Amino acid sequence: GRAVPVLEVRGLGARYRKVEALRGVDLNLHAGQIVTVIGPNGAGKSTLLNALMGALPAGAQAQGTVRHLGDAVGDLSIEARVARGMCLVPESRALFATMSIEDNLKLGAWRRKKAGERHYLDALDAVFALFPRLLERRTQQAGTLSGGERQMLAIGRALMGKPDLLMLDEPSLGLAPLVTRDILRVVSQLKETGVATLLVEQNARAALQIADYAYVLETGDVVLEGPAAELAENPRVIETYLGLG
Ligand code: ATP
Repeated sequence: GRAVPVLEVRGLGARYRKVEALRGVDLNLHAGQIVTVIGPNGAGKSTLLNALMGALPAGAQAQGTVRHLGDAVGDLSIEARVARGMCLVPESRALFATMSIEDNLKLGAWRRKKAGERHYLDALDAVFALFPRLLERRTQQAGTLSGGERQMLAIGRALMGKPDLLMLDEPSLGLAPLVTRDILRVVSQLKETGVATLLVEQNARAALQIADYAYVLETGDVVLEGPAAELAENPRVIETYLGLG
């Protein structure tokens, strides 16, 4: 049989007091795969990631089962999920604006340092190799970076923790098409490292180009799923998410 999935989600639901934001979501993600969740504004994409991470706001409720490498993690804190290797890069790309790029990256290894890992900075060279721009500017304050560079730094910082599950919330948000392409090219290179990537995107065209498998989320429901190359040819996906041409 196949290796145990890095992420296995069954019947995931989430509600914010009166709003039911997510219903019965089933999803699988294996090592070295990129799975994308596409869908319009308000479909529940951020809610999905926050529910997977145990990071829903107070008052919100989740249902269903989330398994990471075979273990149910639904009762674990955010910190415990991060310690297992689950990592979420939020839409906000929160960075320490007055700290240098290099120091922001080093902070990404803080948990590994605290856990007593001797070589906790050992991902730094790999991050700089993936994002040469960050190496060129490593002493520059994070607050002076462009939107694309901030996104690179946010992803790089996540990788410093050596996650096996990387969740990206709209990495293309606010970025020019060429910058988006650069960043998603790096995301697709991560497959070789074996990391499993869950890519949440409004930019369906870009996401379907690099993903292995895709889910379409609309008002809290998965309405379509399949290999990304197949969904990119699906008339309904083309009409709703890819436009003409
Ligand atoms: P976006 O691309 O705008 O982030 P999304 O697909 O990520 O959209 P969510 O942000 O997950 O969608 O929102 C899903 C639904 O849940 C929406 O109806 C939204 O208004 C609602 N919602 C999200 N966060 C909260 C909250 N903290 N309290 C109440 N309702 C919320």
